[in-house]
Amino acid sequence: MNTYSLPNLPYPYDALEPAIDRTTMEIHHQKHHQAYLNNLNTMLEKYPALVEQKLEEFLRTPPTSVVNKADLNFFKNNAGGFLNHNFFWTILGPQKEIDEKLRGEVENKFGSLTNFKIEFTKTAVSHFGSGWAWLVRDPQGELKIYSLPNQDTPYQNDDTPLLTLDLWEHAYYLKYQNRRAEYIENWWTILKLL
Ligand code: MN
Repeated sequence: MNTYSLPNLPYPYDALEPAIDRTTMEIHHQKHHQAYLNNLNTMLEKYPALVEQKLEEFLRTPPTSVVNKADLNFFKNNAGGFLNHNFFWTILGPQKEIDEKLRGEVENKFGSLTNFKIEFTKTAVSHFGSGWAWLVRDPQGELKIYSLPNQDTPYQNDDTPLLTLDLWEHAYYLKYQNRRAEYIENWWTILKLL
C-alpha cells in the first residue's frame, strides 16, 4: 500500500541552472525527497488509520493517541519533508508566473519587494543548521517571515505557507559548499513567484 507518490518536477532537472545545478536537483528530488516519501509511506502502512487524514492536519494536530511517541517524531519529520519539498519545487522555475496579488501584499507589509528580500535573506542566512526559511500567512491574515529547524512546517503554528527556501546543505552543497549566502542570492533569480 503506497499512499503517496513522488510528484514530478514541473520542469527539467537542468531548468534552474546556473543557480541550482542539474546533479543537485537530481539527487535532491530522486534521493532526498524520495526518502522522505518512502519513510512516510512506511509509517502509513504501520498506522493505516491515518491514511485518510490530510498530512497538513496531521502536522497541525499530531495524533498522539494513535501513534506511539517514538514513531511520532519520525512520522512528523518525514511527512514534513515530503510536503516541504512538494511545495518548494512548485514556486521555482522558468514557467512559474508572478503572483501579483501576493507581491502587492508583500510590498504593503514590508515596504518594498527589496526590503522583503533583505529581511527574508537575513533570516535564511542566519538560520543555524538544517531547516527552511518561510513566508507565511498567520491565522489573522498577517504575513510573517521566520525559519524553522529540520523538516518542521508552518502547519504546526497554524500558518499557511506562501513561499519557502530549503536551507539543508543537500540543497546546495555540491555547487556552493559552505557558501549558503551565495546560494540564497542566486536562488532569488529562479523564484518567479514575486
Ligand atoms: Mn531538501
